[in-house]
Amino acid sequence: MDIAPDADPAGSRFWRRIEAAMERLQGIAVSPGIAIGEALVLGNEGFRIPRRFLPRDAVEEELDRLQLAFAAAIAEVEHNRERVAEQLGDDYAAIFSAHLQMLRDKRLHEEIEEMIRERHYSPEYSVSRALRRYAKVFQTLEGQYMAERANDIFDIEKRLLRNLLGLRREELSQITSPVLVLAHNLTPSETARLNPRFVLGMVTEAGGPVSHTAIVAEGLGIPAVVGVGSFLTDISGGDTVIIDGDQGQIILHPDEETLAHYRHEVEEQRTLATKLESLRELPAETADGKRIQLLGNIEFPHEVKQCQERGADGIGLYRTEFLYLGVDDDPSEETHYEAYASVANAMQGLPIVMRTLDLGADKMRTLPDSEDERNPVLGLRSIRLTLRNRDLFRVQLRAILRASALGDIRIMFPLVSTLIEFRQAKMVLADAMEDLEEAGIAFNRDVPVGMMVEVPSAVMLMDRFVEEVDFFSIGTNDLIQYCLAVDRGNKDVASMYTAADPAVFRFVKMAISTANEHNVPISMCGQMSGNPLYTMLLLGMGLRSFSVTPAAVPEIKRVCRSVTIEHCQRVADYACSLDGTREIKAFLKEELSKVFPEFPV
Ligand code: PEP
Ligand code: MG
Repeated sequence: MDIAPDADPAGSRFWRRIEAAMERLQGIAVSPGIAIGEALVLGNEGFRIPRRFLPRDAVEEELDRLQLAFAAAIAEVEHNRERVAEQLGDDYAAIFSAHLQMLRDKRLHEEIEEMIRERHYSPEYSVSRALRRYAKVFQTLEGQYMAERANDIFDIEKRLLRNLLGLRREELSQITSPVLVLAHNLTPSETARLNPRFVLGMVTEAGGPVSHTAIVAEGLGIPAVVGVGSFLTDISGGDTVIIDGDQGQIILHPDEETLAHYRHEVEEQRTLATKLESLRELPAETADGKRIQLLGNIEFPHEVKQCQERGADGIGLYRTEFLYLGVDDDPSEETHYEAYASVANAMQGLPIVMRTLDLGADKMRTLPDSEDERNPVLGLRSIRLTLRNRDLFRVQLRAILRASALGDIRIMFPLVSTLIEFRQAKMVLADAMEDLEEAGIAFNRDVPVGMMVEVPSAVMLMDRFVEEVDFFSIGTNDLIQYCLAVDRGNKDVASMYTAADPAVFRFVKMAISTANEHNVPISMCGQMSGNPLYTMLLLGMGLRSFSVTPAAVPEIKRVCRSVTIEHCQRVADYACSLDGTREIKAFLKEELSKVFPEFPV
């Protein structure tokens, strides 16, 4: 709720309370479910602080908050000054003295306090307004020195705002009360640090439909919407927000009627989840008795538990590169081994497909230092990157091989686009085996070796790859982006990114048919396989193994148990004969609702 001034915003003593208007915004649905809660707004580089007005009785409290923020900022700068003085000497530390002088400046304090006391502006807005005015004065003066002083002021503004907002980005993992996280963007590793016990949902202004941030949010099982576009200026921390992860919508300042509607939806979803739980012990078997393999996708060892709780038949994709994200140094062989051994031990003999490092594209630790890497999706990523960094590759392969002595481990190479690439990767693996053998370290010599099918060239060469690989897994997330030339992480082309496309269907069908004809096992681990909309289509195309985000296991099982293969074949044939996304989706939705009417499509 806002307090807005009547006619004269600056000086009026007459305030009236107004309700902020409800706003419904469309983004991209990336993780299903509904979340209702308080907003936690994470600022990006430049905190954008909207003009907020305070209730009159909150002024004293807000002035105290301002003093605390100043005190904390001063303590931080003093700490930095001491550290720099120790390491570089007093001359360098003098930079911070100027900051301290400014933070202690009586006039600045008075100016900000007056805005809070007289105009009832929030401390955040008052700080921002006062300091930006100072910075502007320096910006209008010419010269490098003046420009740097302006930057100093922006720095002070940021520091004060961070303290006022009470949360730094790096403290994301320390959220301890239920919130919805709203941010301009989050990296995959920042998202991975969110604790789903407290983070009920997530929304970002940026981001595309199958970005790894989106995938991680889905893995955490929290409703998420990305690519909403600019909205953070319309919301303040503590405001009520609804995230509709099924429709890709967010509702700011919802009215009572809307809140009641969504609360009811939450109840319905709970009922459905409880119903699906009863399938846990039952196999994923079609109504005509075809056993379907249902595996889970994980990014971290702790997600094994979710796979087990939902009755998955194993791990069909372990995205091992997440071991590299969010840490400064390359993990050692021991660090790799510990993670892999814990997964192998926990899975108790069930299959685990370990994908070797798939770094690059949006899974980057630092920005690329090469000027040529302007298009990382087509650049040095995945298997290309590891083949150029053999030491790094070997460290991981040794750890995987050692873990292969503990369970049913399988090795999968990502983004293979040529036969030579696959053979080279196998050669590095053979070297690693030889090393271990010489050292007398146990491993499974017959470890199955497979590849992701996620580049059009790999699909085209399936009949050649069948001679060399032990298994395939279709990565539709990448296959779609390369097939349709649509960046999976870019909100501006998000509407063009879809699995429901006749060309995508042809690629998928070709991959499944060729593998089946040659009796080479094939699974699918891209997001398409975890979306119930496509389950009948994929079964009809001949897919018998699905690797999905753990939360999707019960739903996919539910569809499998409700259909016959013959019915699915008819669905697939008809869907493949259609021309465009809209009619394909409408048809698949209709078919799904016949067998799974409770599913929210
Ligand atoms: C894929 O591309 O479909 C896939 C499963 O791999 P990732 O999403 O990690 O690129
Ligand atoms: Mg991929």
